[in-house]
Amino acid sequence: MELKWCQFIAQMGYKAKDMKMTIRQRPEALARRVLEAHWDGVLPVDIRGLAESCGARVIDDPLLDVSGVVAIEGGEPVIKVNTNESELRQRFTIAHELGHMMLRHLTKDKTEFRDPSKNYTMANFDRRERDANRFAAAILMPGEAVRAVILEMDDADVDSLASVFKVSKAAMSIKLKSMGILPEWA
Ligand SMILES: [Zn+2]
Repeated sequence: MELKWCQFIAQMGYKAKDMKMTIRQRPEALARRVLEAHWDGVLPVDIRGLAESCGARVIDDPLLDVSGVVAIEGGEPVIKVNTNESELRQRFTIAHELGHMMLRHLTKDKTEFRDPSKNYTMANFDRRERDANRFAAAILMPGEAVRAVILEMDDADVDSLASVFKVSKAAMSIKLKSMGILPEWA
């Protein structure tokens, strides 16, 4: 089955060179490509708009029994987000589900991911979940944007950065540690 978002990845110039990237780099590189193709540079990143630009239909569902779902319905990728949860969680949910979609986790045999909130932690043993989280972090908190905001603010800290990027303090703290801006033990 020829699926639209596969064509989208092809259109973004996902060339053979990139296929040789190590698995460790892929989620971040893919997030960067989506940002380059569709992000207007405005913070916080309009994750819902980005998901739609990538070809997903985003559906609000306050009755969902998990935080988020990504599935192929009628040949199209659909992201369902539990709108009963906080706005910050909903943003991460959409970013994580978009990660499953863009990282090609959806296949003929696995046409749906249902994510309880525990899947949104890095302490997850399923590589697909960890990669979706890495994609989510990279797309919601683009490294260059984090650096630029820190330079621009007089007294940037985890709280102020988390509110600029509309992510949880925990997510921002992990990001700053991974960038070497906060020490690992902070
Ligand atoms: Zn997941």
